[in-house]
Amino acid sequence: MRDALLGWYRRHRRDMPWRREVSPYRTWVSEIMLQQTTVAAATPRFEAFVRLFPDPAALARASEDEVLAAWAGLGYYARARNLRRAAQEIVARHGGKFPSDPEAVLALPGVGRYTAGAILSIAFGLPHPVVDGNVIRVFSRLFGLRARAKDPALAAEVWRRAAKLLPPEAPGDWNQALMELGATVCTPENPDCARCPLKRSCLAFRDGAQRELPLPEPRRTPTPVRWTCLWIERGDEVLLWKRSPQERLLKNLWGLPEAGRVEARLGATLARVRHSITHHALEVELRAATLPTPAALAPAARWTPRARLRDALVSSLWRKLVDAEGRPRRAARA
Ligand code: SF4
Repeated sequence: MRDALLGWYRRHRRDMPWRREVSPYRTWVSEIMLQQTTVAAATPRFEAFVRLFPDPAALARASEDEVLAAWAGLGYYARARNLRRAAQEIVARHGGKFPSDPEAVLALPGVGRYTAGAILSIAFGLPHPVVDGNVIRVFSRLFGLRARAKDPALAAEVWRRAAKLLPPEAPGDWNQALMELGATVCTPENPDCARCPLKRSCLAFRDGAQRELPLPEPRRTPTPVRWTCLWIERGDEVLLWKRSPQERLLKNLWGLPEAGRVEARLGATLARVRHSITHHALEVELRAATLPTPAALAPAARWTPRARLRDALVSSLWRKLVDAEGRPRRAARA
């Protein structure tokens, strides 16, 4: 099984920037970016990110706003904040050099068992397994494990088997091969068993059960959320609002103020947009609004030139709203 999968991986692996030049720093950034982002979307963003912050020291020196701007549109912004905090720890505790001690890697903010295993095996060649959603699906089919993919008992069993199967001479290639197989051949909906290097050992393939495993998750209905956001202008500037750390969504990020957060007189509806954020289905109405005069601004508010809005607003929700607000103006100019 090892020879078949490793041989297949070495012939078929996809070309990715973090595979062309491997270092612990690049592997770490790519793994964090890929946690909730597809390879196609992550590739250009990864290249831009490491150009801007080529090593832990450069990332540690950057301000939080600079790192968030480089992460703009990728979502799950805690990942970017943790990257910066971890880079600061690497500089403070490890002299700017990425640690190879498993405990030190796991102690970094935002690094869990999966990311630590990926960095240690791929960049340092150390025998640590990795288990992500792809590996869980492949193992569930390969060994006929009848459980839901998110069942913690299945994850524990897959970690155990992954550690046992790991070839000590090629842990990085093996881990990447398993994930690559799950991403390109043993896919969730239509596993391409005819092309699979593991088909001779696969219990699900033998039993024709490859589409049944892992067992389906119960469907989760997204929580509906309705917001009214305000478009408040002063000449060529627009009022932005920093959301508090206690917000349910988009905490600690600059955005357009929600109605009720600033004292304002509401005007016409400018746009309505729909947007999804982690199991929340948002419906956002954008209303023109004016401040009473004289207006005292809270510290969480700041005026931002219209031309700089897209740089200042990190979440794609705000960018959608800014685009929707500008559409009639652009149409009038055309
Ligand atoms: S044979 Fe099919 S189900 Fe089994 S591991 Fe390969 S692609 Fe997945």
